[in-house]
Amino acid sequence: MLSERAQQIPPFLVMEILEKAKSLERDGADIIHLEIGEPDFPTPVKIRQAAIEALEQGKTHYTHSMGILPLREAIADHYRKKYNVVVSPDQVIVTMGTSPALLLLLSTLVNPGDEVILSDPCYACYPNFIRYVNGQVVSVPVHAKEGFVLQPETIKEKVTSHTKAIMINSPSNPTGTVLSAAILKAISETGPYIISDEIYHGLTYGAEEHSILEFTDRAFVLNGFSKYYAMTGWRLGYIIAPTDFVRPMQKLQQNLFICASSISQWAGVVALTEHHSELDDMVEIYDTRRKFLLKSLRELGFKVEVEPQGAFYILADARQFTAHSFQFSLDILEKAHVAVTAGVDFGRNAEGFLRFSYANNLQNIEKAMMRLEKYLRENV
Ligand code: PMP
Repeated sequence: MLSERAQQIPPFLVMEILEKAKSLERDGADIIHLEIGEPDFPTPVKIRQAAIEALEQGKTHYTHSMGILPLREAIADHYRKKYNVVVSPDQVIVTMGTSPALLLLLSTLVNPGDEVILSDPCYACYPNFIRYVNGQVVSVPVHAKEGFVLQPETIKEKVTSHTKAIMINSPSNPTGTVLSAAILKAISETGPYIISDEIYHGLTYGAEEHSILEFTDRAFVLNGFSKYYAMTGWRLGYIIAPTDFVRPMQKLQQNLFICASSISQWAGVVALTEHHSELDDMVEIYDTRRKFLLKSLRELGFKVEVEPQGAFYILADARQFTAHSFQFSLDILEKAHVAVTAGVDFGRNAEGFLRFSYANNLQNIEKAMMRLEKYLRENV
């Protein structure tokens, strides 16, 4: 008999679409993947070389549970240089990706019944993590006409004596929204702890990105190497936490995970401390794709009210075509062989929307738009 905890976890719909796409591919179909949030680029060469060196030098053992000191120092330094904030390496815990970081953090912070405020839509896994630790999800709808920006005034209305934290994600998955300094400051003044998922930092197109630590110390930063550094498979991330929370999270890390991969950690040091021209090229290429996709989707009749300025997603309003985004995305996959993610995966407020990822090359995106045009002409 399954535990209640396991029973209440819903599937991550993007993975369901991906698995369905894979099964069509096994039957010979040529699928274009615009559903996954995973860079299509290889990891920059110096980072790969650092991992090879680490292997050859025998850095193949467990590390300190909080991570190797050179990496924790490099992370603290990165935040000082980029955002002008003071972070001690002792406040940094290195994890096997941002996802385990989220588990360590929420397990340490949330008591059963505590409320965590989230935007709707938000990254699909956030509510599931919160429920997993028996917390209550409190959703704040964000709207396309406001560029999906979380409104501090609306957050204030939702804060109660049970509110433990407010979770934010800028640049955002799935909306691509980048929160301004003024909005971050106002959110940090609403009272509860802020959990700021900064995993898409580095991937902005014209917008200025800020860390929550510029505005408050009562905050936890989650970050990782998966997106900007194109290192999804390396499983490397980190938490920056107020000092009081570090030791409890360290104890959890020791018990649940022991430490992050030694090889990935040594590669992470090089990721942060050296310049990688590939990263500048990637951002430029993402931006070209973003502009092309935006224009094409609008021409096809999708509505995108405010131009997304970060990450590698466009959340397009498809309500003129459908009220059921999951069925719609399945139908597009089966008939047009284009995989996209249903908005409903990210919250009730994004039902009727589709998320398009531009972590795929321009040629494929162009081909996908032609297929979509034909699909809409013949089926809608
Ligand atoms: N946060 C957000 C907003 C994400 O989009 C993702 C990956 N899709 C993650 C966290 C998890 O990233 P990872 O575990 O690879 O660091």
